[in-house]
Amino acid sequence: MCIFCDIIDGKIPSTKVYENDKVLCIRDINPVAPTHVLVLPKKHFDDIIDCSKSEDGAVYLDAVSKAVAEVAKIDGLDKGFRVINNCGEDGGQTVMHLHFHVIGGLKLTEKII
Ligand code: 5GP
Ligand code: ZN
Repeated sequence: MCIFCDIIDGKIPSTKVYENDKVLCIRDINPVAPTHVLVLPKKHFDDIIDCSKSEDGAVYLDAVSKAVAEVAKIDGLDKGFRVINNCGEDGGQTVMHLHFHVIGGLKLTEKII
């Protein structure tokens, strides 16, 4: 059982921002910025390492990059934003389904942490 797979399957409600056949983009339930969107590949990969080992991983990463651009357009992030992928325990990943945070709508500092 994976909570993001359940969201993708419509079993758990979410606020959709953008969707196509490869990705679903939803608002984070606990936003840290005016825009905090999660880009979820519709195929389950545990994380970016798992994705890198999959034959169709590149197809999904390509879809992610295009979806990030769509989200930025929808939310009017024309002055920039940040994309974050937490990977594994030390990376602070809490949901083990590959996802990318799109964070924006405020002036972020140049420091990552
Ligand atoms: P991670 O720490 O794994 O990179 O990020 C997981 C993110 O998923 C967190 O920012 C958390 O707020 C978000 N999240 C966890 N459960 C749900 C949920 O049921 N719905 C939505 N929309 N976001 C969730
Ligand atoms: Zn999943």
